[in-house]
Amino acid sequence: MHTVASRTRAWEPEGQRAPSCSTPPPAAPPRLARRRLAATLALALVSAGAGCSREGDGHPPPARTPEPTARQEPVAAGSQAAAGKEGDAAPAAEGAAAAGKEGDTAGAPAAQRPKMNVLVISIDSLRADMPWNGYERDIAPTLTAFEKKAVSYTRHYAISSYTSMSVGGFLAGRYPSAVDRSGYFFGNYPDSVVMFPELLQKAGVRTMSAHAHFYFDQKAGFRQGFDVYEIVPGLSADNTTDRNVTSPGHLELAIKMLSDKANTSGTFFAYFHFLDPHDVYMTHEGIEPFGKRARDKYDGEVKFTDMHVGKLLDFVAKQPWGKDTAIIVTADHGEAFGEHKMYRHGFEVWDVLTHVPLMIHAPGGITPRRINVPRSSIDLAPTILELTGAPPEPSFPGTSLVPELYGASAEPRDVIVDLPRTSDNDRRRALISGQHKLIAYGDDDAFELFDVVADPGETKDLKREQAAVFEAMKAIYRERSAAIKDVCPKNTAKLKGKKKNKPC
Ligand SMILES: [Zn+2]
Repeated sequence: MHTVASRTRAWEPEGQRAPSCSTPPPAAPPRLARRRLAATLALALVSAGAGCSREGDGHPPPARTPEPTARQEPVAAGSQAAAGKEGDAAPAAEGAAAAGKEGDTAGAPAAQRPKMNVLVISIDSLRADMPWNGYERDIAPTLTAFEKKAVSYTRHYAISSYTSMSVGGFLAGRYPSAVDRSGYFFGNYPDSVVMFPELLQKAGVRTMSAHAHFYFDQKAGFRQGFDVYEIVPGLSADNTTDRNVTSPGHLELAIKMLSDKANTSGTFFAYFHFLDPHDVYMTHEGIEPFGKRARDKYDGEVKFTDMHVGKLLDFVAKQPWGKDTAIIVTADHGEAFGEHKMYRHGFEVWDVLTHVPLMIHAPGGITPRRINVPRSSIDLAPTILELTGAPPEPSFPGTSLVPELYGASAEPRDVIVDLPRTSDNDRRRALISGQHKLIAYGDDDAFELFDVVADPGETKDLKREQAAVFEAMKAIYRERSAAIKDVCPKNTAKLKGKKKNKPC
């Protein structure tokens, strides 16, 4: 068995750990009622000047390409005044325009929609800056075409910033800080954790999954709830990097599982996590080289993976159950190429590490459109439960995206990114609310504030310049963060950054 230290080398990103956050955090503001918080924030945002509307989340980041007129555009103006009417949630900026174009099932109550299969295609380390968002290289023709017929989220966040915390949170339907776990960088989740595929099984949904890294095998705890679970064969378990080329084997496994009538004769959930864009970035025969820099090679990995995803989607389209299958494409985290002096992923919660694609195509007349309000993968478990016809799980903090897939308004919501303290990283947490993002360091010892719409690179900390916004964001953060019922991991002795007077 590998030691923790050597195991963490395998996926441990390098680069500078924390930005300068030496300023002691100001005293916590008094706890305010939700409504008052909203009013405070609205006032602060107004005073912060132009471009600081609470509905900034209705504006796509400036680097993105203009959207085709057929796709829904958010209502950008005129909604700020109503911001106080529903807590801190700004009024709906999405959905209304598109709803009218929808087919018969648009906005229909859940009971009227047929239950369907769900296929999740997750791509490790897939950043948000992809061709459909204006990235100049044609590195993902399959996904770019898929995005056009999907509901696509332009401000979607992973639950955390590296695999074990993000995938653990996804499968548990909860923030990783609230889930029993080992405390190691390569997190292990015990059988006591209820994973949402277990709920699917109880509802009679067949569940299957394939993975392409040794971490996903026994110890992670991710097999829970899967009827069929396989690892791409022949992987080398190198502790220092991942040189396996796995998309071909992964595709083969996926097609094998989906060709088995025992898996597809009834409603099913299939989860495939393609890994090739994960470092080290390899070159592939048949994929033109983009250059020698890390990003160049990464782009080749994305194109290679996209080609295999294309083959999987082609296969699905030809199956008798293909038309009854919802397809969700997303990523467990992003990837850094020198931003914030970071490379690869993990350790921090910058947007390059946590802002990822999410696009969903589903049968029954969804409205392809872009939704520009912030969302999180915490919403995926409730969404998949609803799509497959399984009962909702009231303890899950996420919100099903199903109504908005079928044309309902996409209401603004706050997003939390949660990186628990582990053997290799101190605690980080972020609140994304409207256009702003507040990053909390350690045990909320220090904060930074960014306008991620105006400044998607998070280059300018606004906490002094926009002090009122900063105070309001901290108040919302404290409320949202307190709603996460933190549990200490099993192993607390070596948690990085743990204070002596804290249990974990
Ligand atoms: Zn990952």
